[in-house]
This record gives sequence, structure tokens and C-alpha cells, in this order.
Amino acid sequence: MTAAFEHNSPSNDVEALKRSIANKLMFAIGKDPITANPRDWLFATMLAARDRLIERWMATTRAQYSQDVKRVYYLSMEFLMGRALTNGLLALGIYDEVRTALDQLGIDYDEIDDIEPDAALGNGGLGRLAACFLDSMATLGLPGYGYGIRYDYGMFKQRIVDGNQVESPDYWLANGYPWEFSRPEVQYLVRFGGRLQDEGEHKVRWLDTQDVFASANDHIIPGYDTTATNTLRLWSAKASNEINLSKFNQGDYFAAVEEKNASENVSRVLYPDDSTYSGKELRLRQEYFFVSASLQDILRRYRQGHPEAKDLTRLHEKVAIHLNDTHPVLAIPELMRILIDDAGMLWRDAWGITRQVFSYTNHTLMSEALETWPLDMLGRVLPRHLKLILEINDAFLKEVRVRLGDDAELIRRVSLVDEGGERKIRMAYLAVVASHKVNGVSALHSQLMVESIFADFAKLYPERFNNKTNGITPRRWLAQANPALAGVIDHYIGKTWRSNLGELAELRQHIDFPAFVNAVAEAKLANKQRLAQFVARKLGGVIDPNALFDVQVKRIHEYKRQLLNVLHVITRYNRILKDPNADIVPRVVVFAGKAASAYHMAKLVIKLINDVGVKINNDPRVGNKLKVVFVPNYGVTLAELIIPAADLSEQISTAGTEASGTGNMKFALNGALTIGTLDGANVEMREEVGADNFFIFGNTADKVEALRRNGYNPREYYENDAELREVLNMLASGTFSPDDPARYRQIFDVLVNWGDHYQLLADYRSYVDTQDQVDALYRNKDEWARKAVLNIAGMGKFSADRTINEYATDIWNVTPVKL
Ligand SMILES: *Cc1c(COP(=O)(O)O)cnc(C)c1O
Repeated sequence: MTAAFEHNSPSNDVEALKRSIANKLMFAIGKDPITANPRDWLFATMLAARDRLIERWMATTRAQYSQDVKRVYYLSMEFLMGRALTNGLLALGIYDEVRTALDQLGIDYDEIDDIEPDAALGNGGLGRLAACFLDSMATLGLPGYGYGIRYDYGMFKQRIVDGNQVESPDYWLANGYPWEFSRPEVQYLVRFGGRLQDEGEHKVRWLDTQDVFASANDHIIPGYDTTATNTLRLWSAKASNEINLSKFNQGDYFAAVEEKNASENVSRVLYPDDSTYSGKELRLRQEYFFVSASLQDILRRYRQGHPEAKDLTRLHEKVAIHLNDTHPVLAIPELMRILIDDAGMLWRDAWGITRQVFSYTNHTLMSEALETWPLDMLGRVLPRHLKLILEINDAFLKEVRVRLGDDAELIRRVSLVDEGGERKIRMAYLAVVASHKVNGVSALHSQLMVESIFADFAKLYPERFNNKTNGITPRRWLAQANPALAGVIDHYIGKTWRSNLGELAELRQHIDFPAFVNAVAEAKLANKQRLAQFVARKLGGVIDPNALFDVQVKRIHEYKRQLLNVLHVITRYNRILKDPNADIVPRVVVFAGKAASAYHMAKLVIKLINDVGVKINNDPRVGNKLKVVFVPNYGVTLAELIIPAADLSEQISTAGTEASGTGNMKFALNGALTIGTLDGANVEMREEVGADNFFIFGNTADKVEALRRNGYNPREYYENDAELREVLNMLASGTFSPDDPARYRQIFDVLVNWGDHYQLLADYRSYVDTQDQVDALYRNKDEWARKAVLNIAGMGKFSADRTINEYATDIWNVTPVKL
């Protein structure tokens, strides 16, 4: 460089921000303010905000290199990021200034904020956890990188038409996405198919592959109240030129284009699948595509920082790779492949390093959700990786025989190959065998994990298994989503809870000051009014902000038991009709959530909620005593609107099925009381906020298991509980579906005649009785408000900052970069 490199550091006063936004509008968007539309203003504002993160971002990256830090790489098929602008402005501390700047330019911040698309590159909890973790890693100054896929189409959009879910593609990139930097020069070849040529000593040549390029796109992850700034790198597929050119030169232009499109399909669409698995070959290709690109990038960065390291034998000292569920587990054989075939390492040495690099989080115990790949599909798509997995299995089973004896039954149980029927690779077992740490996501889940699916492995490797209870970022889930409550908290205990959530405990000192408790209650009322206005505007329904807002928002799944909630709603309806003069606590029951597109039962539940809503909401005998609202298209942004408005949080999964839940934490942090089972993180939340401030009902995980073992008979409950019987008979006879009386016959059968797998009937009575206790407490507004405060005050433990600190210390062995 001959001339000195000089640039202007953007400043953060209102005048400078106005000028930046104006400059972006003109010179980056190319719009005259006369013709600029709200999206142009949004994009100009995002670009101006992004500018203010870049120096920090570069300084952080430079510090990581110069301090030669150990980095952690968080591999996840999903990142449910939501909107970026407000989050970025709050992290920078310039939110108010930008609002003012826009106001002076004649632009309403809320109006442009409202059109920012969600980056919805995930289905639900697992993807949102990854997003909260990125926020915490940056805020803690940890050198953490996210790696995932830049899907062209994220989570589908949901509309409700005649009560049914209708899906449409979410083309979130249609207008471009100003928050990301695309890095077309950062590009790696990812190979599929082909054949193997043995080179001896376990070394193999992988030939005649079909190739695709992975191209990098970087999203800046701002830390809160720190200059530490991290990167989420997402891969998109680009056809490899070689393929196209050769076909093109042969004169077959259309085949060349077709092939290009086919190979780029690998980053086209997010699988709308949450905790059940759909066995598609394209999904396998997606998984390999992103782990292969990520590993190449990780090793490129390692070599660049360690030019003296001739081999990769000390890789684990500077690199930790975390596997968010089994979706990225192909990273294990991929690293083995690179170490053996490319770096020329001995198999045994490669295995030793691999074992120290990886760690794995299990997210579910439900057998239908545990990922497996048919051997013949793996052999076709990734022959080299199948060979390596089988070698890993041989070595592992040999170790088992040496340590525990040649027990055929045990070998059959723990083998990485499921030999029952079509042979399949058990990806969770591969993850356990190859990781130095395996964690569950709540105390209960981690305990059940070593007692059930990994029991044999826990005997072999007890030191490997540990718990890391999930958490959520208080920046998005309180400061951003609930400015009304955040303002009250700031007034009483200051602002530093945002990065030290344990400080919320100080709220308990103010519990006897009515002014404080009232202020919290008023913030809640304002949030309920905000939601009521949204419902009126978007759905055309009138709901009363003074009613109890009873909210269940999450993916629609049988194990989450939205149906149990509906049974309670119908029970209330019947009680209102039977005693029209009874003094009833008015309720608005709010549902939102998407059903996987192939999940018939979940879609039927959506239809039922809407049918029940039509009947109840239009029954003049009911009036304001009960309303049912289904809010379409649940996602991060809608969660930010709905959760702060909840009085009651429904966390009612069958005990033992919800690994942790994070929705439960968001609600309590925003001052809702929970009605829930002793499942997932509910158990620990109750410990933190006190059993008196938490509504628990239903069977424990042990009891659920015992019932299942000893022959659960749901029909007994149907026959012995008149109120339940009436509700179920209404479903079976078409009370809510007069146009199609048989529509819900299947639901009746699933519950009464076909075994009620999730034991709704066993928990019904306890649930309904506990709902009566909820009503009784809600009548006492002061007592309710006090308990709401005690819930907020008890949520310190559930910051993702706490979770990430534990991962950093116990699993990754990484420390903050010094800035
Ligand atoms: C937090 C969150 C979830 C997870 O909710 P659970 O109740 O734990 O299942 C799912 N989707 C979105 C959009 C979220 O924000």
C-alpha cells in the first residue's frame, strides 16, 4: 500500500446519523427522498447502523488473531435470528438517536421497523437457541462463530384460510438483505457421490464426484454494551463452473443450466420439520454441504493463524466445534477424512484429535426424532464418509468388547449401525462416541438422557455427560420486546440487568411498594392493549385487555399438547352455558404456532382451535367471558409482540418430552405466571421463582413412564369423568364442525380408543382444577401482580449468558478476547 489507508469513523450523534442515512439512501440505495418508499428508508437505516459495527467487528477479528485465541464454532442447521435493526441499535446504544434522526427526516421508526423481514432460518426452539447463543457469545466477548446455511426460502409463511393452515414460501431475500456481507471470494468445493480408490494405510482417494461450491455470507453479531462483535457465516450453493462449461461446450446449453439449478438446490429451502425427521436425500446433502464448507473454512483460518504448524496435531488447542443436535454430525467423518486423506495423518492420530475437537448437544429423547441415515443412501451420496463411520464403529465395538465383554445384545444396542430392518446409521450415537462432551438442555432432560437413550454410553463414558440448562438473551426478550417493563425495571434497579440478569433478584426488595408492583401491572396492561390493537387490526376480533390473557405459542405438536388446552377451553365453554350467571373470570385464550407441512394431526389441531374459536366467539351467551384467538404466522417478531402481553404461560407438554423449552423462560421473564407440567426447564424455573408462584399440574415423568409400562387405559378417564366425557363427545359428534360432523372423530379415537400416547386424559382433571386456581388468584389483582414480579425476579438463572459461560468453561475451554 503506497498511500495511507484512511477512513472516516462514523459518529453517533443525531446530526451525523441523519447525514449517514441520507447518504445511504442516495448513494447505496440510489433513491431520491421524493420517491423513496418505506423499504428504501429501512434499508438506508440498516446500512447506516451496520457501518457503525464494522470498526468494532474488524478490531475484534484482529484481536482474535493477535492474541491467538481458541475459537469455538457453533454448527447449526438453523438460526432463527428474527429482525436485526432494533437489536443492532440497542447493542450500539444509539436506538433513541436513530429514532430522532429519522423523525427529523420525516420518517416514523416504527413504520419502517415493521417491514423488516425476519431472518427465519429455523423452525423453532433449536434455531432460536442458536440465535440467543450467538448474542451471548458476542456480549461475553467470546470468540464464537456461527456456521449454517443461507436458505433462499426460510420458514414457510402461514396463513389461516377457513381455519386451515396454508403455507407459502418465505422469500426473505426478494428485496436483498442489507445486513449481510456476501463474500463471493470465500468459496469452497463440496463434493458428492463418486467412487473410492484405496491408497493403503486407511487412506482413500475420492474420485469422479459431483461438485458444488459453497459461497460465504457474513452476518455481523453485535455484542451488547461491548465492542466485541462476532460473525455468523452462512453458506449458499453456487454451481461449480466446471460442470456447466463442459456441458455448455458440448452444445447442451439447457442441460448445463438444469444441472446448475439442481446443484444449487442444496441451499434452497429450510426443511419445515421440528423434532420429527423427514428422510430426504436433499436434507442429507444440505447437512454435508454446510459442514464441509465450515470445516474447510475453520482449517483455513487455523492454518493462516499457525503457519508454523506443519500438521494439524494440535488443532484441538485452538479449535472447538460444537454440534447443535445431530444435524451437523457429518462434520465428524469429514474432519477424519481431511486429516487422513488430505493431511496424511494416521487413522489413530486423526481419531484422537477429532475426539478432542467435537462436543454435542442432544435436544430430544423422542425416538421418532432421532436422526438415522440408511446405509445405502449414505453410500451413494457420501461413500467416503460411510466407510469412515463403519471404521469408527469397528474401533468402538472393539473397545466395548474389551471393556464390557462380548455381549451380543449390548453390541446390537450400542452399534452405530441399526441392523433391525433396513440398515441405518444412528447419528446420535456417532455424536456421542466422537465427542469429548455430550450435554442435555435441562437438569431433568440430562438425567433422563443418561437413563434412557444413552444409558449404555453413560456406563462406558460417564465423564462425558453433563447438563447445560438453556437460556435466552435478555436483550431481545426483555429490553427489545418489552420496553414498557424494561423501563420500570430500569427505574428501580438500574440498567445493568441487561448483561447481568441475576440483578433482577433485587426487584424482590421492592415487592412491598405498591407503586412498583402497580407499575409492573400497568406495563402488562399496556402490552395487552398493544396486542389487542394488533388483533383488531389484523384479525378483526375484539378482545378485552382486562381479561386474563392465557397464551400458548410454540410449534404445534402432539407432545406439546395444544389439544389439552383446547379440552380446557371447551370445558369452560360448557360451564358458562350451564350457569350463565356464574361469576367467571373473563379469559382470552391465545394460540399461535406452525405445523410441519406433512403433520396431519398437528394441522387438524389448528383447524380445531379455529373451529372452536368460531363457535365460542360468536355465541352471544358467552360474550366477553371467553374468547379464542389463533394468531397466524408465529415467528420471532410475533413472539416479541405476544409474549409481553401474556398473563398466563401454557407449558403443558407430557412430562419427559420437552427437553427444556425456552418459550417458558421468555414468558416468566416478561411477568407471566406459568401453568405447566414438571417437564424440561419448568422444573428449574419453579425452583427459582418459588413453588407458590408457579402452577404445576399433572403426572411427573416417572409417573408417565410407569403408566406407559403398566398399561395406560385412557378410556377409564373418559368413563369416570363426566366433564371430560362431555367435551370428548362434543368433538366426536361434530359440535364444532357442523359442516363435517366426522372431522374430529379421529381426535376422539386417538385420545379414547388408540392409547392417547401423550396421556392428555390422565392429566385433564389436574389441569382443569389447576386452571380454577389460576382464576381464583387472578381475582386478587394485587396478589397476582406480586407473583408476576416474583417470577421476573427469579429469572436471573435463565439468561443465555449464564448458559454460555458454562459451555465456555466446562466444554469449550475458551476465554474472552481482550479489547
Ligand atoms: C422461543 C421460541 C420458540 C421455542 O418455544 P418453546 O415454547 O420452547 O417451544 C419457538 N419459536 C419461536 C419463534 C421462539 O421465539
